[in-house]
Amino acid sequence: MKKIILIVLSILTFTSYAQTASTQKRIIILATGGTIAGSGDSSTKAAYTAGKVPIDDLLNAVPQIHNYGKITGEQIASIGSQDMNIVTWLKLTKRINEIFKNNEADAVVVTHGTDTQEETAYFLDLTVQYDKPVVLVGAMRPSTAMSQDGNRNLLDAVVVAADESSKTRGVIVAMDEKIFDARDVTKTSTTNIETFQSRNYGPIGLIYDGKVKYYYQSLRNPAKKFDVTKLNSLPQVEIVYGYADANANSVYCITNSGPKGIVYAGMGNGNFGAPVGKALAEAAKKGIIVCRSARAGSGRVTLDNEVKDAELGFVVADDLNPQKARVLLMLSLTETNDRAKIQQNFFDY
Ligand code: GLU
Repeated sequence: MKKIILIVLSILTFTSYAQTASTQKRIIILATGGTIAGSGDSSTKAAYTAGKVPIDDLLNAVPQIHNYGKITGEQIASIGSQDMNIVTWLKLTKRINEIFKNNEADAVVVTHGTDTQEETAYFLDLTVQYDKPVVLVGAMRPSTAMSQDGNRNLLDAVVVAADESSKTRGVIVAMDEKIFDARDVTKTSTTNIETFQSRNYGPIGLIYDGKVKYYYQSLRNPAKKFDVTKLNSLPQVEIVYGYADANANSVYCITNSGPKGIVYAGMGNGNFGAPVGKALAEAAKKGIIVCRSARAGSGRVTLDNEVKDAELGFVVADDLNPQKARVLLMLSLTETNDRAKIQQNFFDY
């Protein structure tokens, strides 16, 4: 009898171990640098260098992450995200697609500086071909600072990545106990911890005490992503900023540098004064795709209302901010120069 009980107990123990092992999520953390890997000389002073702390030290600093999955790390870059670039974007998205294609992991976390995190997130959102969780995370205070936010943010990002309900949401950003859609999130404060916001729609979920709760899902997550497998660069697209009494010098300067697209960060509903409007219309006539967006920080730019877009040859960014409109325009231009198709992308993606 004793023997039978022992055998049953061992079977139960083995089954439960096997279940834990098989349900434990494999998560790869791809490190790119930023303040989350930043190091300073003093815990109270703000001065520091971004991107100095290597991935292994980051992982060792937060041993609790190993409670949420089988975690490994890879260093993709070690830069402040003001130096983020298209070559690194392509490297990152190719590696993420490869990870999922080869079934190397169930989810990916990307550590990243906050300055351009929203652009990287949206680029990955448009180019990662798989529905598995991809979570971007950063920090506003370096790892050596008092009340640093990186460790907590990294743990939360792993919690989000390991959560079954994070699938099929496109790329997401987890910062400061909130989860944001890559398309909508933006950095709103130069130095404040609570810098990330989705000004139009709010966070899609919250993280607290090691648990994730989603409240909303973006409808803008088209199944067709951009295929960048064979690309080593993207078409040149520049941004022009709008302001009162602007002359057209910067538009002409950019037009002469041979771009495929110009994103105009206009006033109000993407407006411009007469000299800039004339220069942008000339650029559009030359075949450059001119996309009107807004510097306002929220809301959308509407087609053919105050500005006669059809007549002038412009497209509008809808509710994308200028820096994200640039990302979508660069990717769109890898497939087409057709203005109508590109306009449709701005309404679909
Ligand atoms: N400029 C640095 C970066 O974006 C620091 C900002 C941050 O990470 O919070 O990497």
